[in-house]
Amino acid sequence: MFRLTQYRADPDKAEMLVTKSLETVQWMKSRGVKFQPSYGRQAFKVDGKYRFWGGLCVETWGGGEGLIELETKAAEENGIEILYETKGLSLLYDDEKVYGLRVKHKGKVREIHAGAVILASGGFEANPEMRTRYLGPGWELVKVRGTRFNTGGGIQMALDIGAMPHGNWSGCHAVGWDLNAPETGDLTVGDNFQKHSYPLGIMVNATGKRFVDEGADFRNYTYAKYGRVIMDQPGMMAWQVFDQKVIDMLRDEYRIRRVTKVTANTIEELAPKLEGVDPDQFVKTVKEYNAAVQTDVKFNPAVLDGRGTTGLDVPKTNWANTLDEPPYEAYAITCGITFTFGGLRTNDDGNVLDTELNPIPGLYAAGELVGGMFCFNYPGGTGLMSGAIFGRLAGNSAAAQVKGG
Ligand SMILES: Cc1cc2nc3c(=O)[nH]c(=O)nc-3n(C[C@H](O)[C@H](O)[C@H](O)COP(=O)(O)OP(=O)(O)OC[C@H]3O[C@@H](n4cnc5c(N)ncnc54)[C@H](O)[C@@H]3O)c2cc1C
Repeated sequence: MFRLTQYRADPDKAEMLVTKSLETVQWMKSRGVKFQPSYGRQAFKVDGKYRFWGGLCVETWGGGEGLIELETKAAEENGIEILYETKGLSLLYDDEKVYGLRVKHKGKVREIHAGAVILASGGFEANPEMRTRYLGPGWELVKVRGTRFNTGGGIQMALDIGAMPHGNWSGCHAVGWDLNAPETGDLTVGDNFQKHSYPLGIMVNATGKRFVDEGADFRNYTYAKYGRVIMDQPGMMAWQVFDQKVIDMLRDEYRIRRVTKVTANTIEELAPKLEGVDPDQFVKTVKEYNAAVQTDVKFNPAVLDGRGTTGLDVPKTNWANTLDEPPYEAYAITCGITFTFGGLRTNDDGNVLDTELNPIPGLYAAGELVGGMFCFNYPGGTGLMSGAIFGRLAGNSAAAQVKGG
């Protein structure tokens, strides 16, 4: 966490994230959420055994959909009512404590009174105006990987009653995402527009040149910051290129029907098919890259194998393979934003703090809209884990407050 966030992660929150993850996963399991080994996405077989990348060895059964299905079941079994098509508009606040929420439910505005409110309505990733205001120019044009409903409403309603903003407001999690993906997430495709196998190949921009070290670190530690790098390229796009040596190792998302892909039997034949790319420079780039690969170092996708390039302006540090086994495959990507890093400031109980750093009675927060956890970058898997840990914490604190008075 500290290495990836350049030592800016809130140390108390990071400590909690790391030390409470196991017990939280076990608690979720006791509540009916199922987990499975993360074979398809984060693991490679080396010498007959699976090796998991970056310490991420389990994922929720059925992915995000499975998680929601089982959490919904658990909520219903415990008598928790869920109101769909209900948008939170503002907090009910009497200048001392939060006592509920004003909502719009199926076109009608109503008040819901409550002993405490826990905000868990995500960041502002689906709000082009806020993206541009806080992340910077160009961000209004990126694609949104997830829900179109995370427009920063929860953050805004807390700021409106004096909550303290916190964390990396100009930062976000963003990845390489299919160039032709829709504006916001499509539930029939899920996260399969992502293209996360770039450490196994090369990426080129419109000038036909490589622009980033595809093998700088484990995929888990680079993918969330490379979306911004792709956004910064001319035309906000890039192509990923692979040869047959690694095709079998590409993640499942490369084998979906809705994919922007071209293939060719030679690099010269592939070049003009890479729409928007300077073909002559691309051919030159591949030749130079192939000549620079340290083929004497053994390739091992499960560890930082040190099989890099020598002498290139943009090096590749690990997993460098020559591109020389046709047919070649190339995939067009742009920037897809996952979530924003800036948000509200909370204390160790999940209580939202005001601008004087005093807890706002009755107001709690968890998930993406809490700031201070991530900065510049993000280690894969920590989003859902922090949502679970701090969601549980906020729930326990809110319940204790309500029961106590
Ligand atoms: C495509 C994709 C893939 C991902 N893959 C992974 C992964 O593999 N591992 C991982 O750890 N994390 C992953 N993440 C990140 C992870 O999903 C998020 O960090 C996590 O879901 C955040 O939880 P949350 O509760 O804060 O917000 P969300 O899960 O986004 O939930 C917020 C909810 O609030 C609702 N809402 C928003 N505004 C309002 C309002 N005003 N009133 C009422 N409701 C509102 C939204 O409709 C939404 O249902 C992924 C995200 C995406 C988009």
